[in-house]
Amino acid sequence: MICPFCRHDDSRVVDSRPVEDGTQIRRRRECPECGARFSTQETTLLNIIKRSGATEPFSREKVIAGVRKACQGRPVNNDDLALLAQRVEETLRASGQAEIEAQEVGLAILAPLRELDEIAYLRYASVYRNFNSLADFEGEIALLRAVPSQAAKETNSPAVKNADLSAGKSSVKI
Ligand SMILES: [Zn+2]
Repeated sequence: MICPFCRHDDSRVVDSRPVEDGTQIRRRRECPECGARFSTQETTLLNIIKRSGATEPFSREKVIAGVRKACQGRPVNNDDLALLAQRVEETLRASGQAEIEAQEVGLAILAPLRELDEIAYLRYASVYRNFNSLADFEGEIALLRAVPSQAAKETNSPAVKNADLSAGKSSVKI
């Protein structure tokens, strides 16, 4: 691994530890040339199969871009979106598949988005599931009322919210 400080073409691993439930390995490296230390992160590649059949790496940024529009005007901040994208990635990785259909990404977004904001969820679901009549909305709203999101209530407690946010920050790539 090239040193990001002096561009020396080699570095030494000084520490290696699993993070995020063992789905990632973080390595602390040291440059023998300039002595700078930096971190790298290793994770299995998660590929998304698009409708065209082409594959591309999973991207949290794309998940966020996909739901940001549905969240316009809603009390949802960037940390909320980052956490949602992290949960989507964890859900997809937990399936144990290395390649996942794009539509499964959309499905994995629905549950955490509902917990985050029900209006944003309805907007997203209306596009994702091709709602084309008021009856579709009414049916979905009836479902939302019939099955209150338990986790949504839990994440409203400050303790849980803080724990989740710190977990989100630990995943930032250095
Ligand atoms: Zn260096």
